[in-house]
Amino acid sequence: MRRFLRYAALSVSILLVFATSVFGSDENGKIREIGDSVYSFTMGLGNHSMFVIGQDGVAVFDTFDSQHSKSMLAAIGSVTDKPIRYAFQSHNHWDHASGGQVFKDAGAQVVMHVLAAEWLAANPGRDTVPPDTVWSGDRKNISLGNLTVELRYLGMNHGRGMTVFTIPERGAAFIADLVNPNRVMFSVVPDFNIGEWERTLTDILDLEFDVAVCAHNELPIDEALNGCTRLHAEEERQFIRDLRDAILAEFQNGTGFLDVPKVVRLPQYAHWVGYDDWLEMNTLRLMTDLWMGPFPWYPDEK
Ligand SMILES: [Zn+2]
Repeated sequence: MRRFLRYAALSVSILLVFATSVFGSDENGKIREIGDSVYSFTMGLGNHSMFVIGQDGVAVFDTFDSQHSKSMLAAIGSVTDKPIRYAFQSHNHWDHASGGQVFKDAGAQVVMHVLAAEWLAANPGRDTVPPDTVWSGDRKNISLGNLTVELRYLGMNHGRGMTVFTIPERGAAFIADLVNPNRVMFSVVPDFNIGEWERTLTDILDLEFDVAVCAHNELPIDEALNGCTRLHAEEERQFIRDLRDAILAEFQNGTGFLDVPKVVRLPQYAHWVGYDDWLEMNTLRLMTDLWMGPFPWYPDEK
């Protein structure tokens, strides 16, 4: 009987070792350490999160949805026993701010800017939870002991309460939706004030960081796991400028309004994801903005 129990215990421990090694595999998500105790995480479905492990515990950046969060929780457990202290949500949109309950259940506080919290209170999603902590103004620091999470609200750009995060001790950042490597703008460019987005990209380039996790990164997955850099923020800003210049040139040429999206081409971006399907939508959206004036627009609520 004792020998059986020993065998059973051994089997359970082999199973546990096996289960741990499976976490981080293709079906359960992939992690990569991109700086000391700074990790990127993705399930390969187009969403990238970051987590950092400080002396006092772990902080995660963008929970996306419950499935993504469960997989990330398992991945975090494969590299540390430290408690998860914070689940930071970058902005109000359901496709980023869902799944927070998974981290609440694991003992974390869900944190977001007050402008995001107000929007979510009025427009709750199926998988969103009210935050435990809201912050306001344009700056807040949260300590993890040896590491600082710097939260910045850079004004209107995309969605409500958009927060850019930096970890100065590691030269790392987390940027959602504002920098999207290797991709044109998303479809009809929903809920972006494009002029303020361009201005924000200059503000982002004034921040000190060497590596970031960009929440949507269309580089090949093995490259995307390494995160994004300042170069990608510069490329995003240049794309906005090039598209605007091309539209204004067609206005200048007297091209018919509805013909403009059919003739604007930016071959230098032809290798970017979405070029064939979305460039016309991007053009129609930006030219509407240039014709009517910028939208959406909110009074300064810093
Ligand atoms: Zn968004």
